[in-house]
Amino acid sequence: MAKFEDHKVFIYNSLKGEKEEFIPVASPNVGLYVCGPTVYSNVHLGNCRTFLSFDMVFRYLTHLDYKVRYVRNITDAGHLENDADEGEDKIAKKARLESLEPMEIVQSYTLDFHNVMRSFNAHPPSIEPTATGHIVEQIEMIQTILDKGLAYEVNGSVYFDVKKYSETEDYGELSGRKIDELMEGSRDLDGQSEKRDSVDFALWKKASPMHIMRWNSPWSVGFPGWHLECSVMSSKYLGNQFDIHGGGMDLKFPHHECEIAQGQAANGVKPVNYWMHGNMLTLNGQRMSKSTGNTLLPDELFSGSSDLLDKAYSPMVVRFFMMQAHYRSTLDFSSDALTAAEKGYKKLMAALETLNSLEHKAGTINEAVDAEITALCNKCYEFMGDDFNTPRTIAVLFDLVGKINTYAAHGVIEDISQETSNLLTQSFQGMVVEVLGLSPEEKSDSGALDGVMQMLIKMRRNAKLNKDFALSDQIRDELIAAGVKLKDNRDGTTEYTVDN
Ligand code: AMP
Ligand code: ZN
Repeated sequence: MAKFEDHKVFIYNSLKGEKEEFIPVASPNVGLYVCGPTVYSNVHLGNCRTFLSFDMVFRYLTHLDYKVRYVRNITDAGHLENDADEGEDKIAKKARLESLEPMEIVQSYTLDFHNVMRSFNAHPPSIEPTATGHIVEQIEMIQTILDKGLAYEVNGSVYFDVKKYSETEDYGELSGRKIDELMEGSRDLDGQSEKRDSVDFALWKKASPMHIMRWNSPWSVGFPGWHLECSVMSSKYLGNQFDIHGGGMDLKFPHHECEIAQGQAANGVKPVNYWMHGNMLTLNGQRMSKSTGNTLLPDELFSGSSDLLDKAYSPMVVRFFMMQAHYRSTLDFSSDALTAAEKGYKKLMAALETLNSLEHKAGTINEAVDAEITALCNKCYEFMGDDFNTPRTIAVLFDLVGKINTYAAHGVIEDISQETSNLLTQSFQGMVVEVLGLSPEEKSDSGALDGVMQMLIKMRRNAKLNKDFALSDQIRDELIAAGVKLKDNRDGTTEYTVDN
């Protein structure tokens, strides 16, 4: 079993702008927090990319035998339409438009999110807390920040005092923004805002009469600011200072910058040691985004119903497509790229099946081959440890596919030691299945197809017996059009073959 003691991990820390060796606060325990979805619509493929990137990070750390507590929240309140603390709550707005309870919206899209993640073979987090389930803790944190003099109350709302905070701390350290520039830019923007500076952000907002998602607090009946929930839930479940915090690049500012400020203000320490940011999935070069409508939904991909696609693609092919890119690179979606990914995925799965069917036989060891296979296996760990470089790891896996296929031709693994053969199986299987999260296509699909085929074969036989040749020919011809050929055997049985 691969152990973290033997395999170092270097993480590109967005806070420092460089790769650093990963040293957990309390190894072997690791705390990982990832910002979850705001559940007011179906997750699109761009959201999925970020969640699958962190699923891979979680999987690799777990594969190295770290004990990872993985927290990913559900934002079910407090996320307003724009980042400047204005506008309607996204969930409440959707509820209003659809004449539903906000919690019906939350329930429906949380279920959709879970189904999508399951279809992509993503592990569920260890804890999936919600913003509405932590209102009490959010009120407590606001009070602490107020007590420290780093927030102020105006008309029942509470704002974080960025200017005051910046007297001792570096607001902007994560996103690389300069506080002076932020303050300067903000002055012109502001007219009648309650905030002292528009760079200040809401910790608590008093609810307008229209705002239906509201709770009691010492300041007003209102609701928490969006950034607060992540500070509260990460510190509650992972501690005031924990290992890794992830999310998409677009969350760096203001969301994550504000999380740092809140954590530091309330608890006197920087909350996160390693900040990780995934890059965007683009469509025609443009960021996939709910707000612009430039999106593709997972279901459209699995069913092939979008005009952007030439056919349907399975969740595993899409997952492989995403793993082929480094999580910090942009990835452009296209039908051609998916077709290429499909080929690669099938090759990898075929090699996995072959490897599982091959046995090692003691024989003369070819030292050069033995050393080469050992080196390739070690390279997988080296690349994964180099800021989770999945594309380079996959390239090495394909080198191993070449070796496996050579053994397949011989029917046995014979020119390497038993130990190296075990390493090959463990590394290949470990990387493909455990780390990349790829598995053979669902067997249940072919089981269902077989059931349907047996039914059609029976119907055609009955049609022939009843001399209804029009129907029996129609069944045969329509199956041919669907890519299924029937072959009648002399003994009266019928076989079918499916074009791939
Ligand atoms: P949201 O539900 O909008 O808060 O987004 C959930 C997650 O998806 C966040 O981590 C975003 O950064 C991420 N995300 C949104 N759009 C994209 C995209 N086009 N590519 C990758 N990640 C994205
Ligand atoms: Zn967050």
